[in-house]
Amino acid sequence: MIEYENLNKVNSRFEESFGEVFKEFIKKGRYILDSEVEHFENEFAKYCGSKFCIGVASGLDALYLSLIALDLPKGSEVLVPSNTYIATIFSILQAGLKPVLVEPRITTYNIDPHQIKRHLSSATKAIIVVHLYGKPCEMDAIKAITDLHDLHLIEDCAQAHGATFQGKKVGTFGIMGAFSFYPTKNLGALGDAGAIITDNEELAEKLRALRNYGSDKKYYNKYTGINSRLDELQAAFLRIKLRHLDDLNSHKVSLANIYLSTISNKSIILPIVQKNIADVWHIFNIRHDKRDGLRQYLLANGIKTEVHYPLAPHRQTACNGLFGGLHFPIADEIHRTTLSLPVSIIHTKRDAEYIAEALNSYRSEG
Ligand SMILES: *Cc1c(COP(=O)(O)O)cnc(C)c1O
Repeated sequence: MIEYENLNKVNSRFEESFGEVFKEFIKKGRYILDSEVEHFENEFAKYCGSKFCIGVASGLDALYLSLIALDLPKGSEVLVPSNTYIATIFSILQAGLKPVLVEPRITTYNIDPHQIKRHLSSATKAIIVVHLYGKPCEMDAIKAITDLHDLHLIEDCAQAHGATFQGKKVGTFGIMGAFSFYPTKNLGALGDAGAIITDNEELAEKLRALRNYGSDKKYYNKYTGINSRLDELQAAFLRIKLRHLDDLNSHKVSLANIYLSTISNKSIILPIVQKNIADVWHIFNIRHDKRDGLRQYLLANGIKTEVHYPLAPHRQTACNGLFGGLHFPIADEIHRTTLSLPVSIIHTKRDAEYIAEALNSYRSEG
């Protein structure tokens, strides 16, 4: 059986190094916001090519705190792609702002710059773009719009650690870039973790306070912040894994290239490759008109797959009444047809070839 993912296998290769830092951690007895967090923040900022990094407890918190730090008027509109993972939309709601869903391109699954323009209003204050599945958005076209209309640009990089647009890493185009280190992400911790990167010193200081009870000095609270500190032990684990992130990403690229060059079944829609956009393939999704049948067939051939995601955000119970009367046919179509193929560091080129051949032999009935 080819598994979709196996986190034990992903992480066991680092077991020895994890053991060493854990021993050190016990010996030191300093569990919160100590040197591991600080080192990781510096190393991750450097990796991304940004000035500052602020470690937080999750990707959701990274997005939420980014919005809170901007201090936007209550009810301001924030544009967000209609097919994102729900966290992006929840961060906007929890910050007391209004999410405005913008349809993606059906070819890239990323926010469509032309659609952005159609949704701007006098209440629009920010855009959160999402580099979904590991593919960077069209940042030149998007920056042109945010610059022209004086909008804050936040990047949700939870699926795109290390991906580049025209050679520049994602997270460095907007005012802030938000990352998740949820265990399955390209850079994954052994628990929950997240971070925000920025070049803006004032925002960096504010974010550092906001994640820690709004405190800029011990027992002095400047803002009504939250407790969303990056865990010291997770930071130590992440430092080890960061050193191997580029290798992990290249491995995913090589598997993706096998899929792209080998899958020739005309009933399958493959992801597109764009010039100057270096995808890190957090997810390798294909689309098929009868997705569930294809998924069953693959399972019968010993191949496990996933669906990212089965239900569009506007159809989630939690979003009842929020987008009343509006239609998002492109998001619906993606959610109806998308299927994610195995693309992990645990998979070999042989696995990818076997999967591609199985797909090529597939003939759907009717
Ligand atoms: C994973 C993810 C998040 C949320 O990250 P958590 O660490 O689970 O809170 C946000 N946005 C996207 C696009 C994600 O994939």
